[in-house]
Amino acid sequence: MEVRRVYNFSPGPSMLPLEVLEKAQKELVNYGGTGMSVMEMSHRSSAYMEIIQEAESLIRELMDIPASYKVLFLQGGASQQFGMVPLNLMKTGKADYMETGQFASKALKEAKKFGKVNTVASSKDKNYSYIPDIDPDKLDPAADYFHFTINNTIYGTRFTKLPETGNVPLVTDMSSSILSEVYDVSKLGLIYAGAQKNIGPAGLTLVIIREDLMGLAGDNVPTMLDYKTHSDNDSMYNTPPTYSIYVSKLVFEWVKSLGGVAAMQKINEEKAGMLYDYLDNSSLFKGHATVKDRSLMNVTYFTGNEELDKKFVKEAAKAGLVTLGGHRSVGGMRASIYNAMPVDGVKTLVEFMKKFELENKEK
Ligand code: PMP
Repeated sequence: MEVRRVYNFSPGPSMLPLEVLEKAQKELVNYGGTGMSVMEMSHRSSAYMEIIQEAESLIRELMDIPASYKVLFLQGGASQQFGMVPLNLMKTGKADYMETGQFASKALKEAKKFGKVNTVASSKDKNYSYIPDIDPDKLDPAADYFHFTINNTIYGTRFTKLPETGNVPLVTDMSSSILSEVYDVSKLGLIYAGAQKNIGPAGLTLVIIREDLMGLAGDNVPTMLDYKTHSDNDSMYNTPPTYSIYVSKLVFEWVKSLGGVAAMQKINEEKAGMLYDYLDNSSLFKGHATVKDRSLMNVTYFTGNEELDKKFVKEAAKAGLVTLGGHRSVGGMRASIYNAMPVDGVKTLVEFMKKFELENKEK
């Protein structure tokens, strides 16, 4: 029976490529002639070791990760990294943070438990609708690291260039934009990302860390929260999220088959461009984010009338365009258009918005 799939604009967990879901379905009960599902497999079996090693080698290739970096497959979500980063990296007890949204602010709050946090810049004054400039005088050259959220999922903003911090390592939360555009990993000290947007199913957290930033944790740091534990054991200190890693490997293969991250970026620019072009010319809808800082992944907009926003979200859902409601702290609408959202999904959304505008324009 043919099941109708919707265009799902959820911020995460979000759409996975249909090809990936179908491949996982085909291999669900008998993976590669093993007579069992990947879900039932020992994580130390040779069949599984092949899967995790292939996943690592694909992400290294896709992101051009230098050999001096470790790739770790962890759990606990991006939220666990809010604590793990300071716990491992705050060796002198000082760090610089950018406050560009709710998750950035959660990370900052968590870091304060471990040392002195210097808020370099904040965009809280305008409900995080922009990326603030960095005043170089505000940077602490002796900070252990500089933390920023490269794409702000709730507000629809992104850093279009990396902050310049001299020798202070950059640490970034890349949960909502990893694999969506080309980043120079060699300029970053540590990258973390929850999987449930551009990587695969929830349950996996990817960490990419420069080797010299490991082994700094004190003796009182729990074994499971020390990056070195996971690095020394190739993410196999305990049972990793095996099935999530397997599906992520299928997603990496899919990205590669489309031409890699640079090709993905072109498609994402096309998709976001269609929505922003329409928003810029609409007399009903307005974007939340400042034009220069707009995200390619999360497009936030509103009509200025809460009732009309609700009507839009409801009618869009009826038309098969689901999960378009904005986060409660911004209101309005948010279209999350991660890698797996087809160009057609965005086209259909723009057509729907045009029709809605015509029908709901003030007479
Ligand atoms: N950081 C960002 C940028 C996010 O978008 C999210 C989740 N939406 C989180 C952190 C929290 O992630 P998790 O639920 O994996 O802890």
